[in-house]
Amino acid sequence: MEKVSDYFGCMVFDDRVMKATLSAKVYQSLKRTMDEGVRLDPGVADAVAAAMKDWAVAHGATHYTHWFQPLTGVTAEKHDSFISPSPDGGVIMEFSGKELIKGEPDASSFPSGGLRATFEARGYTAWDPTSYAFIKGKTLCIPTAFCSYGGEALDKKTPLLRSMEALNKQALRILRLFGNDSVKCVRTSVGPEQEYFLITKEMYDQRPDLRFTGRTLFGARSPKGQEMDDHYFGVIKPRVAAYMEELNHELWKLGILAKTEHNEVAPAQHELAPIYTTTNIATDHNQLTMEIMQKVAAKHGLVCLLHEKPFAGVNGSGKHNNWSISTDSGVNLLSPGETPYENAQFLLFLCAVIKAVDDYQDLLRISVATAGNDHRLGANEAPPAVVSIFLGDELNAVLEALETGAPYSGTEKTQMKLGVSVLPRFNRDTTDRNRTSPFAFTGNKFEFRMLGSSNSIACANIMLNSAVAESLKIYADRLEKAEDFETALHDMICKTIKDHKHIIFNGNGYDDTWIKEATENRGLLNYRTTPDCMPHLLDKKNVDMLTSHKVFSETELKSRCDIMLENYCKAVLIEANTMIDMARTQIAPAIEEYTLKLAQTAAAKKALDVSLGCGYESGLVKKLSGLTDRIAVKVTELEDAVTALHTAEDIIEESYAIRDTLLPKMGELRLACDEAETMTAKDYWPFPTYGDLLFGVR
Ligand code: ADP
Ligand code: MG
Repeated sequence: MEKVSDYFGCMVFDDRVMKATLSAKVYQSLKRTMDEGVRLDPGVADAVAAAMKDWAVAHGATHYTHWFQPLTGVTAEKHDSFISPSPDGGVIMEFSGKELIKGEPDASSFPSGGLRATFEARGYTAWDPTSYAFIKGKTLCIPTAFCSYGGEALDKKTPLLRSMEALNKQALRILRLFGNDSVKCVRTSVGPEQEYFLITKEMYDQRPDLRFTGRTLFGARSPKGQEMDDHYFGVIKPRVAAYMEELNHELWKLGILAKTEHNEVAPAQHELAPIYTTTNIATDHNQLTMEIMQKVAAKHGLVCLLHEKPFAGVNGSGKHNNWSISTDSGVNLLSPGETPYENAQFLLFLCAVIKAVDDYQDLLRISVATAGNDHRLGANEAPPAVVSIFLGDELNAVLEALETGAPYSGTEKTQMKLGVSVLPRFNRDTTDRNRTSPFAFTGNKFEFRMLGSSNSIACANIMLNSAVAESLKIYADRLEKAEDFETALHDMICKTIKDHKHIIFNGNGYDDTWIKEATENRGLLNYRTTPDCMPHLLDKKNVDMLTSHKVFSETELKSRCDIMLENYCKAVLIEANTMIDMARTQIAPAIEEYTLKLAQTAAAKKALDVSLGCGYESGLVKKLSGLTDRIAVKVTELEDAVTALHTAEDIIEESYAIRDTLLPKMGELRLACDEAETMTAKDYWPFPTYGDLLFGVR
């Protein structure tokens, strides 16, 4: 057996390879670019490119690609081979610094929200030296950012890097105020827990809804669902275990720290969590993980479903974004410290997050908004669409004591005073494991739980980093001018608690009374759907904040709002068309066939003996005929709703029509079809049922 430590990261041009293949001078220079964001020397790029190419070719690569993350949500790549003709008729393998640094994919078909039309038809990709290059198949993949020639970002990576830079800048200002002059940079780290479903390829192929939309659009409940909770952390079936083993192997080769895996709550649902790493790398790794999950599944005769809600009535899949802020020297700024001074600093960063989440609830909601996630949020298995923060009783008590000046009645009765008191340690064991909060403090990090399983984690982290950068900026502006630092700090923390405590909620987020309390008494936002929230991306306060930190330009925001709404509309429209097709060409004919069979049975019985009762058959024939009629009506209504979309004036209006008309019509059609499924003999039903799908992997 191969040892993991022998092959871990063998397909990555990582620090070990760089040290071994680059001259000391080139290595140092590249390191400075990676660690401190210093601009890359062009001479260095040539040397790095040559070393990268030699290493890649030695590992079997023939091509290279600039690997980027356009606004489609998946990654994109265009392969070029290394070959270059040599005068003797042969070829040599070449790769220059120029080719490493910049690529020009013909990218006119990627969504740009009109950006390229007004600037330049083509975009370019630019190397992100902070994320390692790697080999996939026979291709050297170079992580890149994707921009228009006007400099507008056309991807998710560019604003993510900008948001990390914004947070770095503001956090350094704060650290300097605390007398910390040695820290060079501050970064956020993320560990995303990825949920997914595995079903058999054979069944998947028989369901057009899964193939075209990633989720089932029809399907009566299976007699058994997740009610026994017997799947959660249950024994992993051999076929799934074999899948996980190969998946780990592939991920480890790519230097992805896949760590934890277990069965999730719903049958056929599983989770994979890597060890956390710097946010932009975690983002690249998560995109790769999703891609490799699907590839490995195919090898095992399985399909990996990453949709947020593949099955109605059982839990959907999310992606928990575990997020923390730390310094280049490895100090986690969201971890309570050993000394009162460190704790004051911790409380300041904690408050910055609380303020950020409250001030930009809408941006956090927007960052996870997709047609798929709309089915999951608030569906009694996932956090509601209302953003709130869970701190746990202990930390909550600390904040309350600070705000009121009352003695803190924790382990010791002491007066809480910043810079004087030692905070109790909040480790994992003391923070309650509240699972229902959209945004939970878990000892030394926050867990943002609203992300959908198929979302790129880039969007959520862009908003999180930017919003926290804004809080820190406001704090730094004030503290830099303060005459007495400690008093100013104390007052500011107390003010934050007072102003923003309405966002803190330590109870059960799945409870309906919470939604009432949150919206009616606390005035928190409740954007249930993508069309509800997305237009608020362009609210003045959001545009002002994001542009002031140079994370987005106003044009970029407008284009992104358009693209996200377009993606939403397209996704639902494909679902509606798939439903119409399935209902008309598969479901209705199947019911008709079974109805005929019943009618024939009744007739045969009668012919045998007129006194024979046919109550069962005729009753069922009546019910099923009624249902086929209803299905026919509902299909027509749905079709009309699709046609009516053409009259929408703009994308916002179209998204409203989808939310208010199309989705309800889809629900009505499904209801009729699912009812018919429960009355139709299984042999006649045209595709695998929920029971087959959810319990089919053995
Ligand atoms: P749970 O399921 O209890 O929430 P897991 O162990 O499944 O916890 O996942 C926790 C995730 O949080 C892992 O990806 C882990 O690497 C990550 N994590 C742990 N510490 C930090 C940290 N300081 N910053 C960011 N992520 C972290
Ligand atoms: Mg978790």
